[in-house]
Amino acid sequence: MSVWKNIKKSSIGWIKGCAQKVGDVTNSKDSGHFTPQNSNYWIFVTVFFLCIAANRFFYDNPHNTKDLGNLARQISQPITEESREDLVYQRLNDLLHDLKNFEQIDRLKPFLPLRPKILDSVPSTVPLFREHYVLSSSYGNRHHPIHRITRKHFGVDLAAEKDTPIYCTAAGRVAHIGNDPNGHGLHVIISHAYGFSTLYGHMESVAVALGEALDAHDFIGTVGSTGISTGPHLHYEVIKDGNRINPAPSFNIKYEVYSNLKTD
Ligand SMILES: [Zn+2]
Repeated sequence: MSVWKNIKKSSIGWIKGCAQKVGDVTNSKDSGHFTPQNSNYWIFVTVFFLCIAANRFFYDNPHNTKDLGNLARQISQPITEESREDLVYQRLNDLLHDLKNFEQIDRLKPFLPLRPKILDSVPSTVPLFREHYVLSSSYGNRHHPIHRITRKHFGVDLAAEKDTPIYCTAAGRVAHIGNDPNGHGLHVIISHAYGFSTLYGHMESVAVALGEALDAHDFIGTVGSTGISTGPHLHYEVIKDGNRINPAPSFNIKYEVYSNLKTD
């Protein structure tokens, strides 16, 4: 401690001496003003430049990209309208990833009107035009019309005329096209963001190719009665993180969000 005090004392003395010398050259008695004639002025100038030199010595090259990156991270960004929107988007992203089924959709409702476009990536509509179908079988346990046993129905059946157009319920990519005569017949599976997939079964025709990228509501094929079926209908499933969930609560999500936006 005493060594440090000595260094401090002698360096302050040295700075004072130098400053007085410089001051002597002009007028050291003019101590009332902060001018080059005043020794305090030179002490200030010396300490100022010593600080700059020390800063350069300890923090090295501030133009190093890594340092700049660290600096940028340390600077707290002011919350602008854009970043506030990003926070909403982030929150919706997290909620959609965590969503287990559509019964939990209420958690998203405060945020959806702020970013309704996100619904283009989430199955949130009916795959047929409203006036084109009748809900003939819901999700859940039912007495199977052909197998004549009670078993769980993992989708919904939308009875419609043969060749009624089918539209994908969210943007995505065609993950599978199959034909299973003992099951869903001609069917398409589309994978979407946030762990969602949708299955369209008993189709008459398929209008998409495997791997094709689709926008929300793109035409994907027509209603038929292929596979195990008692009449023309669309069997529609929503799969979330590997579980087949009830699609029915998703049918009005997009419609409700957008119609509320219009009335506001
Ligand atoms: Zn079905």
